[in-house]
Amino acid sequence: MSTTRRKTSSVHSARSSGASEPGVSVPSSKSRIECGVDFERDGRQVSWLKVPHSTHRSGHGSICIPIAVFRNGRGPTIFFMAGNHGDEYEGQVALLKLIRALDPATISGRVIVLPAANFPAAMAGQRTSPIDQGNLNRMFPGNPDGTATDMIAHFIGAVLMPLANLFVDLHSGGSSMEFTPYAMARLSTANTRKKEAVAALLAFDAPMSLIQGDAAENRFASSIAEQLGVVALAGEFGGGGKVSVAALAIVERGIRNLMAHLGIIEKAVPRPPGRGPSRVMKAKERTYASDTGLFEPYASLGESVVKGTEAGAIHFVDNPLRPPAVETHGGSGMVMSVRTAGLCERGDALFWVAEDYAVPAELK
Ligand code: CA
Repeated sequence: MSTTRRKTSSVHSARSSGASEPGVSVPSSKSRIECGVDFERDGRQVSWLKVPHSTHRSGHGSICIPIAVFRNGRGPTIFFMAGNHGDEYEGQVALLKLIRALDPATISGRVIVLPAANFPAAMAGQRTSPIDQGNLNRMFPGNPDGTATDMIAHFIGAVLMPLANLFVDLHSGGSSMEFTPYAMARLSTANTRKKEAVAALLAFDAPMSLIQGDAAENRFASSIAEQLGVVALAGEFGGGGKVSVAALAIVERGIRNLMAHLGIIEKAVPRPPGRGPSRVMKAKERTYASDTGLFEPYASLGESVVKGTEAGAIHFVDNPLRPPAVETHGGSGMVMSVRTAGLCERGDALFWVAEDYAVPAELK
């Protein structure tokens, strides 16, 4: 593409006036990925990020990752991403529908849509990339000179994230887990935008709004947002390697509500009839498998459980007379995640619970 140089310079100019905080070191935006859209041009553009990928089949080939940009004048930028894990589908479906439906004449500001961030993983229906086994959401800040997944992570963090005022990373439980659908804000110690994150979380208005504290990981896409001072939301919508109709409806409404929250579109989407206010909850303990076998859960999503009570059994298929290993809940609360894959190995997460949470006055 002949306009790469101009586009690169427009990324730099956007960054200098963008949302990042002073004093934050932004990784160099120098990338081998060719970007087919101009973030400063008005209208709708749907194109590809071309990740150089030289193989036996195609010596000078590329991985072409779909990207869309909608812009109408100056205004805030929202950056929607799905397919960070390839087998998490509700966000991918919602963003594909958004790309086809959104009329740029009806927005003020900019909407960046990356519906299948780890594209090789999304095409394979896998959490990780079949090319380099890359788990994108464990690879930030990435590496512009690394593997395909390294390059994708780097481009997202160094080029796309600094353009955003609000970053939204749409997940689900993938092939091995299922979640009660929720939007999530991480109010970690380093998050300088907690109040804005809570406001965005409540504006999304999922039936459940989850608060999480400090992450054990700093290689998430949201870790980069946090470093740059970009307000970040995520969410887990369904799982089990399928498309949940109910969770998809929650995502589709939520992404419109976030655009309305920033003033990019005029109107939020009304709550479905009969649905009450969002239930704000805080994530608590997980329960892990202590052995390897066939997992029989004793509790379902949404059920209340008590720490220390029986959570499930792990059966040993190869030895019928061997008694199953009985697991106990690691925490009390509502089951918000359960392992759906039948087979488990020692160390696999089986349950995750949350409890009701009152947002502190200083964050309202
Ligand atoms: Ca995920």
